[in-house]
Amino acid sequence: MGSAPRVADRVQHFTESVIREMTRLNNLYDSINLSQGFPDFPAPAEIKEAAIKAIRDDINQYAVTWGAPNLRRNLAEKYRWFNGMDVDPDKHITVTCGATEAMISAMLATLNPGDKFIVLQPFYENYWPDGMISGAEPIFVSLHAPDFRWDEAEMRAAFARGARAIIINNPNNPTGRVFTRAELQFLAGLCIEYNALAFTDEIYEHILYDGRQHISLATLPGMADRTITISGFSKTYSVTGWRIGYCIATEEISKAIRKVHDFLTVGAPAPLQEAGAVALKFPRAYYDQLRVDYTRRRSLCLSALRDAGFAFEPVEGAYYVMTDFSNFGMDHDVEFAHYLVKEIGVASVPGSSFYMPPDLGRHQVRFCFCKRDETLIAAGERLTQLKRTR
Ligand code: GLN
Repeated sequence: MGSAPRVADRVQHFTESVIREMTRLNNLYDSINLSQGFPDFPAPAEIKEAAIKAIRDDINQYAVTWGAPNLRRNLAEKYRWFNGMDVDPDKHITVTCGATEAMISAMLATLNPGDKFIVLQPFYENYWPDGMISGAEPIFVSLHAPDFRWDEAEMRAAFARGARAIIINNPNNPTGRVFTRAELQFLAGLCIEYNALAFTDEIYEHILYDGRQHISLATLPGMADRTITISGFSKTYSVTGWRIGYCIATEEISKAIRKVHDFLTVGAPAPLQEAGAVALKFPRAYYDQLRVDYTRRRSLCLSALRDAGFAFEPVEGAYYVMTDFSNFGMDHDVEFAHYLVKEIGVASVPGSSFYMPPDLGRHQVRFCFCKRDETLIAAGERLTQLKRTR
């Protein structure tokens, strides 16, 4: 009799995604899904038509492995007017299967096993397994309650421990923080002083509130050569299932990323890249309307949560809110999230999946509000059934 099939050490240290698991539980209990961050409203008609047309026109074979030329050209143009970055579409851009693949490809291309990288916590859950898969070792730096700011001395100490890189997600999932220019300048200073790279996940760059402006870290003095700017189409154009993302880096780093990307996936879906090229030509009014719509969704969601008795900090960007549920007399996030999905009919994400050690998140759950008004209103009605114990 043969022994049991073996699995590699590198997959022993992380679990399956809790966010995706909450979506499965949501579907099982026919609940309202405010867990996994994907829209339940339609994507723009123009890009759906463009994707259909591309398939009809037989753009059905591999695109250039690092991205269809027109998509990269249009990306460079948009990066000029929106992000203020000077990008060469042939040298600096690699199109990937979502920002998720961009991040892991960038890490595999630049970090050696044993290298240290800084992760701000609470963190988006992919970053920890990304590190495990790359063989790199995370150093966690806390975003402290109540306002989710890092402590400068703690950040400096993390760099001084020999960090080769930092991952920064701005606007931030799950905290809703948008880091200020002063905060980013401080970080840039440390990256330069310690010769570290920055992986910036800017997937929520267009989802900002109260007049805030997006600042790409790569635009700060001295950062263009050491920043890998990552983003994608999922959130800005409401197409999370298309899996079209990209990263922007120096020619040298891009060459390394392209090698990893090529052998991991060959390329992102060709017809959807054509539709992405159309999306990038949307006028500024599209992005203005996106902000208006998200501002309304934010207020529907936050007022429902406030009325129900959750505590939370202001949300400055992205479409999540980390809440403290201590008012309901329960003190374990997984237990509370399961109660919420089964008994109340609203799915959230347990706070522990955003922290290391996980116990730091035991009084928190995350909600997302990238949903139709009706969905948010219905969820709010269900949440009124929660009983406050204080
Ligand atoms: N970024 C989204 C979230 O945090 C979706 C994650 C995912 O499932 N890829 O919920």
